[in-house]
Amino acid sequence: MNKKKCIACKKCVRKCPVDAIPMVGGKALIDDNDCIYCAKCVRTCPVKAILKDKEHIDFEIESGVKKMRKSLAKSGNKKTETDAQK
Ligand code: SF4
Ligand code: SF4
Repeated sequence: MNKKKCIACKKCVRKCPVDAIPMVGGKALIDDNDCIYCAKCVRTCPVKAILKDKEHIDFEIESGVKKMRKSLAKSGNKKTETDAQK
């Protein structure tokens, strides 16, 4: 999160499906405990304040891994899900 870039438009706050972005000191701040790494806020921010390029790549990878884990859990493959979390 690049606080200097944030213009406090709150678009990310409205877009977040799990209310994981409080405004702190007039700037958006992602709460890592609640974030599910859907990346909607990254795509929504008009000034690209949320992540820098390298962080964005890492974020997308983490998002993909979490989605894969959820998909495996839904399919009932618990052994694979457990292995994926190691
Ligand atoms: S990645 Fe998704 S869940 Fe996390 S803060 Fe952004 S919009 Fe919310
Ligand atoms: S969308 Fe970007 S500029 Fe707007 S509040 Fe969120 S981080 Fe700040």
